[in-house]
Amino acid sequence: MISGYNQRGISVDLSSGKIEVFPLPEEIITNYLGGRGWGAWFLHEENQALVDPLSSESILVIASGGLGGSVAPTSGRFSIIFKSPLTGTIFSSNSGGFWGHIFKRTGYDVLLIKGRAAQPVYLYLSEDKIELIECPELWGLNIPELTQQLQAKYSPQAKILGIGPAGEKQVRFASIMNDLGRTAGRGGGGAVMGAKNLKAIVVAGRKTFPPFQREKYQTGLAQANKLIRSMPVTSKAFPLLGTAGLVKLVYQHDMLVHRNFQDTSHLPENIEKISGETLRRTIFRAPRGCFNCRIRCARLTQVDHRQGEGPEFETIAMLGANLEIYDLPTIARANYLCNEYGLDTISLGNTLGAAMELFEKGGLSSPETGGLELCFGAGHLLEELVRLIAHREGLGHELAEGARRLCQKYQAPELAMVVKGLELPAYDPRSTLMQALGYATSTRGGCHLKGGYMISLGFFGGAREVDRFLVETVADHVVDEQDSGCVADMLGICRFAYFAFSENELSRIYAGFTGVDLGPHDLKRLARQVIDEERRFNLKAGLKASTDTLPTRFFTEKIKIAGRQRAIDRENQFAYMLNKYYEIRKWTNDSNLKTNKIHPK
Ligand code: SF4
Repeated sequence: MISGYNQRGISVDLSSGKIEVFPLPEEIITNYLGGRGWGAWFLHEENQALVDPLSSESILVIASGGLGGSVAPTSGRFSIIFKSPLTGTIFSSNSGGFWGHIFKRTGYDVLLIKGRAAQPVYLYLSEDKIELIECPELWGLNIPELTQQLQAKYSPQAKILGIGPAGEKQVRFASIMNDLGRTAGRGGGGAVMGAKNLKAIVVAGRKTFPPFQREKYQTGLAQANKLIRSMPVTSKAFPLLGTAGLVKLVYQHDMLVHRNFQDTSHLPENIEKISGETLRRTIFRAPRGCFNCRIRCARLTQVDHRQGEGPEFETIAMLGANLEIYDLPTIARANYLCNEYGLDTISLGNTLGAAMELFEKGGLSSPETGGLELCFGAGHLLEELVRLIAHREGLGHELAEGARRLCQKYQAPELAMVVKGLELPAYDPRSTLMQALGYATSTRGGCHLKGGYMISLGFFGGAREVDRFLVETVADHVVDEQDSGCVADMLGICRFAYFAFSENELSRIYAGFTGVDLGPHDLKRLARQVIDEERRFNLKAGLKASTDTLPTRFFTEKIKIAGRQRAIDRENQFAYMLNKYYEIRKWTNDSNLKTNKIHPK
């Protein structure tokens, strides 16, 4: 028996109502660790590469991290893994809050959701009960209403994960929400849940996990906590300003997107209006944090009489800077709605940016927008657009398909700022070559987290800080960051904690908690194998190596960055970085993967 794990999972077939508890083999635990790793394993085992994500054949894997149930800093994160209806790739999306921690304490490590229920249902899970309950009366509720009703029925301590109207309507970038304001945001997991008629999962658990080797465990915890206390970004900047503190920093590095990635130029006074400092002075009410996190980057805010969480940096950037809407209350109100309806604000802001550029360039006419003057800066339309998309009404029905499908429909695919169909987040890739390669190679598409969180090297790297335009070293850094990110996703640790600590501390904590002695390099090796497994999934799903690229704009349109006009040189810079990346990963550019399968079936 391995300490720290329950060593069992639950499979729920919504079509038949059958619920099975199954053992989780030791070799799957020790080779895949948890979270994203288990997702890659189960999606492979269940032959998910060729299924329609919105059909009853698809499965949703919900997995606690390998350090779930421990008191490692930020270890309450859990992963939801599925084939994405937005990208067609394997997709691992994770979330914080408290749901993941309590899920692990119900006595199960992983949950497989299969089939499709005939009626809306929710799942209740505790240490002594697993129940599937029909709930047509909950269908249509937004997240606060859903949470309130289920907690009234069970207990205020029960943790609720669910979808809002956007998931029910299968918006391709609908998110899965938990603990009211926390979100497995990206990739359309909410649409997969909606297609399954699964409205919510309620968990209530109290099981505890004594560490295998207390002294080693405590040493690792003390080191990690000390590093969080000593790094300025985790001890001062994020606790004080939240992720919104990044707005000025990203702008100062000429990375902050503008007008659907046409440039990164903003007037300083406009940045001031949406900065973390302004948020703190105006709408901030209190800090909020996920389970066992002293960073507490989340914000409780208030606009007029409404309170809610956020907006986070990405939301301010994508709904604000990218759309030329420099008004914090407007952005915050739209963000509250996204949390209520269950929408990913990155894909939303990116898709709206594409629609606005289409409109301004004549690709989308006024009758096609239902009379809406869809121009950049149209803050007065933002809440209405969110509502239309979440309910797939009018123009919202087309916007709900995401930027790629929208731009294809209006014959301007070059205006979709996506990689593999995933809308890019708020860092312009011309501003750092590491981010460019990270976006191009991430197994879930254009993403700053799975692609490698390059600002951790570019801004906060300290001794690790690297030149963001140095072509030669990019591939090494990107592979290293992607592998580290995958370790965090397998263990259920927040990426922001990685600004302070790394695999060195985590390997000690993990060994002390579980008794499985894996050094930092072992953790990275296992992560690399998971990324290979994800790549294999994507190739089997029909993606080609040619999708490891960026929208043409970034190769052809020069913008001013760090005092010079720059675009990415496709032949000399990008091809070099990509080839080097393939070489390190032992991937090939003809869509084969040279590495062998990690595990026998
Ligand atoms: S740093 Fe922020 S997102 Fe990460 S665990 Fe802490 S509160 Fe949650």
